[in-house]
Amino acid sequence: MGVLQELSVSVAGLSEEEARDRALVFGPNVIAVHDTVPIFWTVLHQFQSPVVYLLMAASAMAGLLGQWKEAAAILVVLAISALIGFITESRALRSIESLRDLGTHNARVRRGGEVRLVPAETLVPGDILLVEAGDRLSADVRLIEAINLTADEAALTGESLPTEKDVMPVDREARIGDRHSMLYKGTVVASGSGVGLVVGTGLSTELGRISQLVAKAETGRSPLEKRLARLSGQLIWVTLAIAALVAAAGIFSGKEPMLMIEAAIALAVAAIPEGLPIVATLVLARGMWRMARENALVERLSAVETLGATTVILTDKTGTLTENRMAVRAVLAPDADWGVVESGPGKAVPGQPASAAAAALLKAAVLCNDATLAEIQSEDSGDPMELALLRAGADAGLARSALIGEYPVLRKVPFDTDVRMMATLHGSEDGAFWMVKGAPEAVLQASDRVASADDSLPMDRTVRADWHGRVEQLGRRGLRVLAFAMKGADMPDGEPFENLVFLGIIGLEDPVRPDVPDAIATCQAAGIRVVMVTGDHLVTAKSIGETVGLFEQGTATAEGTDRAGLGNGDDSGFRDFGIFARVSPAEKLALVRAYQEAGEVVAMTGDGVNDAPALRQADIGVAMGRRGTDVAREAAAMILLDDAFPTIVRAIREGRIIFDNIRRFVVYLLSCNLAEVLIVGLAVLATLPLPLLPLQILYLNLVTDVFPAFALAMCKGDHAVLKRPPRRPDEPILGRAQWSVIIVQSVLMTFGVFLALVIARLVLHLDHQATLTVTFLTLGFVQLWHVFDMAGTSAGMLNNEVTRNPWVWGAILLCSGLLIGPTLAPPHADVLGLTSPTALMWCLIAAASLLPVLAGRIGVLLLAALRGKGTR
Ligand code: ADP
Ligand code: MG
Repeated sequence: MGVLQELSVSVAGLSEEEARDRALVFGPNVIAVHDTVPIFWTVLHQFQSPVVYLLMAASAMAGLLGQWKEAAAILVVLAISALIGFITESRALRSIESLRDLGTHNARVRRGGEVRLVPAETLVPGDILLVEAGDRLSADVRLIEAINLTADEAALTGESLPTEKDVMPVDREARIGDRHSMLYKGTVVASGSGVGLVVGTGLSTELGRISQLVAKAETGRSPLEKRLARLSGQLIWVTLAIAALVAAAGIFSGKEPMLMIEAAIALAVAAIPEGLPIVATLVLARGMWRMARENALVERLSAVETLGATTVILTDKTGTLTENRMAVRAVLAPDADWGVVESGPGKAVPGQPASAAAAALLKAAVLCNDATLAEIQSEDSGDPMELALLRAGADAGLARSALIGEYPVLRKVPFDTDVRMMATLHGSEDGAFWMVKGAPEAVLQASDRVASADDSLPMDRTVRADWHGRVEQLGRRGLRVLAFAMKGADMPDGEPFENLVFLGIIGLEDPVRPDVPDAIATCQAAGIRVVMVTGDHLVTAKSIGETVGLFEQGTATAEGTDRAGLGNGDDSGFRDFGIFARVSPAEKLALVRAYQEAGEVVAMTGDGVNDAPALRQADIGVAMGRRGTDVAREAAAMILLDDAFPTIVRAIREGRIIFDNIRRFVVYLLSCNLAEVLIVGLAVLATLPLPLLPLQILYLNLVTDVFPAFALAMCKGDHAVLKRPPRRPDEPILGRAQWSVIIVQSVLMTFGVFLALVIARLVLHLDHQATLTVTFLTLGFVQLWHVFDMAGTSAGMLNNEVTRNPWVWGAILLCSGLLIGPTLAPPHADVLGLTSPTALMWCLIAAASLLPVLAGRIGVLLLAALRGKGTR
């Protein structure tokens, strides 16, 4: 083949040194370095909000009115807040970027005669790339081998139907879409498999040339961030309306316009939770980090919130519920039942095959196989099931390397989840022959004879039924059963899956992951249904289901989805099914839709190319990081780095915690704001002098409220997180319960501040500025203590998520300093309109600020006691 020589490569591929040398010449195989957000934009972003515009307008207004101190101070507070925002946002962006790097993908190449997985960036021209259905090409290749190969080149040509590929040369002038001997970077292998020589990497690929086609990473805001932005937006209008009304009413009733404008500005500033967007960004980014640490890589920001609302998990079996560490446990050949072999993995299947028939069966298992054992290369590679078959063969003296030398592979029909079989065509001195392996029903269906000692016997109904019985027997032990068959091949391009001679079955054990039963029990306690959706045999699925605790006698099960009533109109009962076995990818999609129509929030796992539509349809598509195809990973919202089911449960837990935390800080911030509005509003109504200055309010909102809100967003959740049912998917962040809390708490806080005001005036006879100092500091501390109201109603009084959260204590310490600090340094105090309080004033501040929180907590206690009595 000319191409190989042209790039001076042997079929063994490049050596590692050559690959490294070429990487120096051709550079890394990347099209563009990550789109990093320029710092400038992050800075600018801090100022792009209506809140900031409003405040700038307020500052300008203050300047116009000659209040220079005020005007400058607003700008300073804005700058501080922008700095806090900038730091959080750039940290969040950086962490999201580094998470993306975790998800970079690998390519299978042949180097130095070995097949190995290398990072796609390290591909160089001359590498021999192995591809199969579901792979996304990471370089341009010239095919040197193609088996039933088709590629989806929509990304490049816009052609939506897969294009057939082969190795024949094409015309020099052929358009990209017609170059059937090439595969291009960015396109996807739709079916079949192939081997190609890398001829272009990085910018010298077709995709690199038209780089605007590079898939852009999702940068949009999540629905949650949008909802929060909308909330802030609405608050602004409400605020402006109230402020205008107050000012108008005041001026109309003959008050001094200056004072009224100042009050209006104070109200406007009071009502808007300026810290909200900053905290929201931080929470989501941190949530993604925490999930990544638990091996769940979130690909879409929206998944973080949807996860918490998940009501049903559709999970596959092999590798997710089980370990995917297979070992052959039973080998059953036609005329000599080789017996049930009970040996540990690695231990020899005793001696030589007991019969010629058993030898033929194992030979098929070794030949019809895509895996490679470590004997001929540095590590095992391939599907664990196929590796187990190779090991069993090797133990019986049938090494693949020797057998392949004798019977070279001429063609291969890869495994397909719809056909459930694969086939290889081998050459030999006596002519070519097909070896077939696959799901027993499929292979039995395709066989019309059974191998026997000398020749083969016809396969009749009783023989077939016999074999089905044996398959079920093995299945009941939880074994995954494969069947094997063969036939002579007159023509190499003939149909492999008909008129086969049946060779027997092999049962493989795949131990259940030890932590799965617990995870499933946790789901049940959390009101999340777990349904097994597998391509495997029903009997095997039931046995595994029983071990992990999602199937017991009486649980409804189905083969395919027909029996569950899907597709024939009567689908009322399908939600009670615990297992769907022998499910095709199309049926998976139908299942997801059916659950969604029934109002469920569906998480669904998948790994194959054909799973992509179902993954995309699901609310949370979950792809496997290890055995998943590129296509499945791209369709998914979340990737499991360890492929394990319990990881999904941990991610759901994280999702619920994040939602709780978001609720916590939103309620916290809004009740602080409402308290400020009430205080200013009531004072204006009662024609009292303003108890809080606009700048003081700004200081509270932008500086001292932000840190407790951050801290609340860091709560880790407690054991109760997975003990309650999922939240309704349409449940708003602020429901009636949340609004009641906001209103009650803000009234209590307002009460505390007015109490301080009244005592300061009437009992202590303080002057205006000293009174202002008392009211400002009282409110500042009330708001700090207010974090303890966020523990919820069911948690312990002193020992709860909030009190156990060290960040909360840190925030209280920091903010206490930020409140007390300015009063110690006269110039700062003056800017904020404060004096240095006396000891007596400090006592008043302490008492008045603690009162609302104590009242709130005692109220919660009483409520809980009342409720307890009610249920008893
Ligand atoms: P699962 O949900 O168990 O992963 P799959 O859809 O992958 O199901 O496989 C369905 C069935 O096809 C398996 O139970 C097995 O009988 C058969 N099968 C799976 N992989 C292969 C393979 N590589 N070669 C032949 N048959 C296979
Ligand atoms: Mg599978």
